Amino acid sequence: MLEITGLSFRYKKSAPPVLDGLSAVIGDGGITVLLGKNGSGKTTLFKILTGSLKPQSGTVLFDGEDLLGMPPSKRAARVAYVPQETVYGDMTVCDTVLSARASYVGVRPSKRDRDAVRRALERMDLLSLSGRRMTELSGGERQKAAIARALAQEARLIVFDEPTGNLDIANEWLTAREMKRLSREAGVSILTSIHDPQLALALGGRFLILKNGKADAYGCADDLTGEVLSDCFDTPVRIVEYEGHKIIVKGEPL
Ligand code: ADP
Repeated sequence: MLEITGLSFRYKKSAPPVLDGLSAVIGDGGITVLLGKNGSGKTTLFKILTGSLKPQSGTVLFDGEDLLGMPPSKRAARVAYVPQETVYGDMTVCDTVLSARASYVGVRPSKRDRDAVRRALERMDLLSLSGRRMTELSGGERQKAAIARALAQEARLIVFDEPTGNLDIANEWLTAREMKRLSREAGVSILTSIHDPQLALALGGRFLILKNGKADAYGCADDLTGEVLSDCFDTPVRIVEYEGHKIIVKGEPL
């Protein structure tokens, strides 16, 4: 579905490339987890896919169509983005979710826009909070509103940038479960960066490792071995089995 070929990007001419001829294929359906050390270029890649950065070279095809060259409204129907930091100002939850329809909304929201917003709020169990201001929500609730906003965009692929980065472990697992549910029930594909390899294992699906500006490894969750993770993070990682669960053991004892 998403075919990335020879993607290169640097922030300044004098700076080293963040992406250095990255090529990867991200298949239709399910969840693909993007893993890589801090600064390996995950957010940069997402910003390219959603049109806020332009690569110096390379192509991205979405079902064979040039994703980077298409008008923003057309791209928005294909890729939605849940950024790491969600700053939506002093708007209500409902208006925030509605703002995702910007590429569809005419002078006034149509019935189709309102229905899409309602479905997204319902799916994220946010109807009772729809009149609340975003600034009055907890971190976990804000995260859910950000996901609802992406859902209302009705894109085929949702890109999540470290969706669990600021959450406690309970909300982290809730968000991960929600992502799994969406990929199964809402018919969307998910591409997400996750900093915690334990969560990456729990999400299952496929993984893609970004290292030195290139796709370093790719496979399904079963291929995510201690060796692959050690190489990804340049630190010793082991995977042990406990009561049928795979447990990540990081580094040496402190
Ligand atoms: P990740 O999401 O994997 O942590 P990023 O894509 O955020 O990585 O960053 C990749 C590299 O690009 C880092 O070295 C970072 O310092 C650099 N970088 C990110 N944003 C900018 C920017 N606006 N200007 C210059 N360099 C940047």
